[in-house]
This record gives sequence, C-alpha cells and structure tokens, in this order.
Amino acid sequence: MVRLSIAALLLSTTAAFHLPSTRHTVVRPLTSSLASTTTTTANADEFTSESAKRQIGNDSFLNQDLMARAQNGPGVKNQERLKIGIVGAGLAGMVAAMDLADAGHDVEMFELRPFVGGKVSSWKDKDGNHIEMGLHVFFGCYYNLFGIMKRTGSFDTELRMKEHVHTFVNDGGSLGSLDFRFPIGAPVSGLQAFAKTEQLGLEDKFHNALRLGTSPIVRALFDFDGGMDMVRELDDISFTEWFTQLGGSRGSLDRMWDPIAYALGFVDCDHISARCMLTIFMLFAIRTEASVLRMLEGSPQTCLHDPIIKYLEDRGVKINTSTGCREIVYDTDESGKPTRVTGIKVGPKEELKEYDAVVCALDVPGIKKVLPQAFRDHYPMFDNIYNLDTVPIATVQVRFDGWVTEMNDDARMMDVSGDQSDGRGGGIDNLLYSADAEFSCFADLAVTSPGEYYKEGEGSLIQAVFDERAFDRSNDQIVQDCIDQLHALFPSSRKLKCTWSSVVKLGQSLYREKPGQDKFRPKQATPISNFFLAGSYTYQDYLDSMEGATRSGLMVADEIIARADGDKGLKAQSKAAAVASGATGETEEAKVPFFATA
Ligand SMILES: Cc1cc2nc3c(=O)[nH]c(=O)nc-3n(C[C@H](O)[C@H](O)[C@H](O)COP(=O)(O)OP(=O)(O)OC[C@H]3O[C@@H](n4cnc5c(N)ncnc54)[C@H](O)[C@@H]3O)c2cc1C
Repeated sequence: MVRLSIAALLLSTTAAFHLPSTRHTVVRPLTSSLASTTTTTANADEFTSESAKRQIGNDSFLNQDLMARAQNGPGVKNQERLKIGIVGAGLAGMVAAMDLADAGHDVEMFELRPFVGGKVSSWKDKDGNHIEMGLHVFFGCYYNLFGIMKRTGSFDTELRMKEHVHTFVNDGGSLGSLDFRFPIGAPVSGLQAFAKTEQLGLEDKFHNALRLGTSPIVRALFDFDGGMDMVRELDDISFTEWFTQLGGSRGSLDRMWDPIAYALGFVDCDHISARCMLTIFMLFAIRTEASVLRMLEGSPQTCLHDPIIKYLEDRGVKINTSTGCREIVYDTDESGKPTRVTGIKVGPKEELKEYDAVVCALDVPGIKKVLPQAFRDHYPMFDNIYNLDTVPIATVQVRFDGWVTEMNDDARMMDVSGDQSDGRGGGIDNLLYSADAEFSCFADLAVTSPGEYYKEGEGSLIQAVFDERAFDRSNDQIVQDCIDQLHALFPSSRKLKCTWSSVVKLGQSLYREKPGQDKFRPKQATPISNFFLAGSYTYQDYLDSMEGATRSGLMVADEIIARADGDKGLKAQSKAAAVASGATGETEEAKVPFFATA
C-alpha cells in the first residue's frame, strides 16, 4: 500500500512538472525522431507533401492543429486538373475525395458494396430498421475526423458527448469504472481513475501501478519522443508479455485490460501487440479529452456519411456504388517492372477507366485481391501486405420491450410509454465493457444514439460485437448467447422480452493487431508515382480506427496535390506516357473541359 502511494505520488509529481500541454503544436523536422525508430515503416522522406509529412511521426500523434487542416481543406487549387480514380468508398476514400475535389481535380469513386462507409456503414432493412456493420465510438482526440465533420457540418449536430467515465459491467450487475472526472486533467485524472477503480482489487491495483509506473508513458511525460519511440519498439511483443515482465498481474489483464483489448482490436491481451495498447494509453495520459467518448446521434449513414456525400456531390465527385474494381491497369518497363498506373477495370463488364492517378482506399481483403502479381514481384512493400491478417466479428442488435441497463428501478425498466426519444430512455448512456461476456463492448443505442435507434413504445436496442470466439455459431445461437449473457450482466433484465434481432457477420474486419504487424503496413505513397494506398491498415499511428482511416485519406490527398503540377508532375507524366505509347492523350472526353483548366 505504501509502495502504491509512492508510485502514484511519483507519477503525479512527474506529471505536474512535465505535462507537455502545448508540446505538440510545434512543427519541426520529423526525420530526427524517426531515424531512431526501427519498426516504423512510414518515413517522412517518402512524401513530397509537407502537409502529409505533418501526419507522420511523434509530432503528429497528438497535434490538435491537424483539426484545422482537416476542417479547412487543402487550401490550394492545383493548376493541372487531374483525373483521379478512387477505389473504395470507406472513410479513407471519401476523405481523400473531399480534398482532391477541393484542389480542383476530377474525382470518380468506385465502391463494391451498394452503400458507402465500409466498416462504418449502416443501412435499412426492409422493415426500416437501421443495421450497422459495427458499434462505433469516437475518442476525443480524433482531431482529423472531427475536422472533417466540422467541414461537412456534422460535428456540432451529429455527435453526442458521453460522461467522462469508462464503465465495466460484471456478472450479477456490479459495475466498475474508470472515472476520469477530476478537476485536474491528464495524466492526473487518469491516475486517480486507476487508483479508485472498483474493477480491480487492491493487489491488482498495486501491480497495475507498478507496471504503468515503469512504462514508456511515464517517460513520455518528460521526454515525449523518447516515450513514443519506446512504444513503437514494442510492436513485436504482446501486451501480456510486456505487462507481466515487470510486475503486472493476471488479475488486471483478466478484469480490465482484456475487455479494453477486445474493444480495440477484437483480440485479447495475449494476442494484441503491446504497441497498440500503449499507443492508446499514451493518448489518454497526455490529453484529457482523449478518453472522453462520443457516439453518433443516430446511424452512421445519416450522421456521418450523408453530409460527406453531399459535400462530394456538390463538388462533382461521382460515387459509383455496387461497382467493384476488378483490375488495375499499368505500364511496365522492358523488364516487366510496373512503372505507372493508367487506369482500372470496374464492374461486371470490366469497363476500362483511365486516370492520371489511382488511389486504392481498401480494406485488407480488398487490396489483397486487387493488387497485380507484378506489383508484388517487383516491390516488397506490396508483397508485405499479404502478411497482414484480419479478424472476424459478428455485430448483434437485440431490441427489448424495456430498458436492459436500468438496474435500479424495475418500474422505470418496464416503462416504455410516451416519448423517450433524445436519450431519455432508462439505463446507462455510454459505451460499456465487460470481462464476463463474449462481446467485448456494447451499448444501448436507443439511449446512446437515439436518432434512428429509439422507437416509440419500445425499449433498449443493445448493439454488441462478438469476436472470433462466436463467429462460427449460427445467427440464432449468437442472438441467444447475447441475450443470455445480457441477463447474466443485468439480472433484472430477465423480466424483459426480446422483440427483434439482427446479426451482421464480417469475416474479415480489422487487420489483426497482433505483435509484429507494423512492419508490414504499407505507407500511403508507393514506389509507383501515380498509385496511392489509403485505409486504416496503412501505416499511421491510430491503429485500425476511423481516425486512422481519415489520416490516411488526408495524407494521400496532400501527396497527390503536391505531385500534381509542373514539368514532372502527374499530369505531365500522363501526357508523356500517352505520347510514348502512340496515343494522343487527348480523347474527346479529355479535351473539354478536362484540359481546359490545365
Ligand atoms: C465492428 C467494428 C467496430 C469498430 N469500432 C470502431 C470504433 O468504435 N472506433 C473507431 O475509430 N473505429 C472502429 N472500427 C474501425 C473502423 O471502422 C475502421 O478502421 C474504418 O472504418 C476503416 O475505414 P477505411 O476507409 O480504411 O476502410 P473500409 O471502411 O474497410 O473501406 C474500404 C472500402 O473498400 C471497399 N472495397 C473492397 N474491395 C473493393 C473493390 N475491389 N472495389 C471497390 N471497393 C472495394 C469496401 O467495400 C469498403 O467499403 C470498427 C470496426 C469494426 C469492424
């Protein structure tokens, strides 16, 4: 106990003196901090764009200034108007399209599914129920994504901020929490949250403090670059290996860290990279707002994507849904080495579309399918992608005739009368974690995101994400398991009836954030100068997340904008290649107005 107090005192004293509140608004050359980092695959030298370079390395990690950049757009119009094809209309692709359209380019998007949004998509079933690919929460440090939402006008109206508490629900209805509400911000608010939490017993708290007290996070409080570099170096071991090396206990892993690991990557602490987990703790330790959660007002389609689609359509971007890319078309040199992408073949008829630049903003299975063998044969960075694996998940929605998470008042739990829209339903209005259920995290959407999820006369709409432990079960079985496990967590809910359910299985969702993956994640600029990769699996610090996807899209757009103009620009390369191949490069479609603004 005495040693715990000393450890806590040490942490809070260090924090009080060294809290780097404005540290990351300084922009300085990034290569120095990267030079000492062996595991980082993205290198600022590979980007021409200064703006893209600002997204790389330690300085970018918590740089709030990036929000203004994302909000204001690229702020330049290129002289040359490029014809750009974007494959994949998830967040990464749509964000890249926004900036490229703003810079004056002619952008066309191709999406395999009938709707945009990728892993954050939602759609309506035949009865008008909004179904989601997965439960999505926003950390308060999603600066780039918040900037995009401000640009499209959805930030102020479509996000609901939650209490600054992370709640764990245990069998029998006991709650534990990490309560960050405290008059002093990070890291003190975090330290007191860990010290007070009911989720861990005294012994586990002691071991937790011991391990976190010797973590790179403490170093980062007075030497941010040093701490971040240490975190990056820990990609090759699991969180469990790292945590138990110096005092961390199995009890903390089981009761607190496993639910968090599942929520982050749908794998447990034994299988998630230490780098992934420590990256998130770093966010929480340095920025008070990072651990504040936000959820959408309603469905992702309405609250996130519709405003982006409007922004794109207002700028002439054509989005072709249900039109997958079948093939990438490219030029080679005499040895067969791909030198330049000339277009893509799309749709069932494999229609050829020619472009000055192509962005593949895909998920891991998508990019693996579409990359030509010659790209893999000649460039290791493309071949490395095939080392990345994915995790299967099943998202379950279960509607009840009362309020499942309302455990204190039976009458309130059963009361679905009147208008309980706008989050006025009973129970807990936040994301929930559990160590005792097979779903890693869950929420009552009728309360947390009531927009389209609350239905008059009905109660909770619990949305829970099951991981691979349950993936192979039948949908009916998964729904039954979800109900049984909810009953175990919230015993009072046994009095409620399930009125509707849905299961969405995604066989290949996030890239598997297991140890040793960072070295396989590709950078966004590739060795083929007019071919780019975006997507949350590409290398950026925000793991496989909406913020990571957004960052990658902005980086690609910045890089294309930086490369567009001039004698050696992408347009000049297209014209030169067309001349070399004997084509005029000036098709009827291309002459007017395509070259008119060039
Ligand atoms: C269940 C679940 C819960 C999650 N929860 C959170 C959360 O709470 N917070 C958070 O920040 N992140 C969360 N994520 C992660 C987040 O959803 C992703 O990181 C992010 O949406 C990835 O965006 P993206 O654009 O990179 O890729 P995707 O969204 O995967 O987009 C890629 C697109 O490419 C399309 N495509 C594939 N092949 C082709 C082809 N040949 N031609 C054309 N199109 C093609 C796909 O259909 C898809 O639309 C969650 C993910 C899942 C699965």
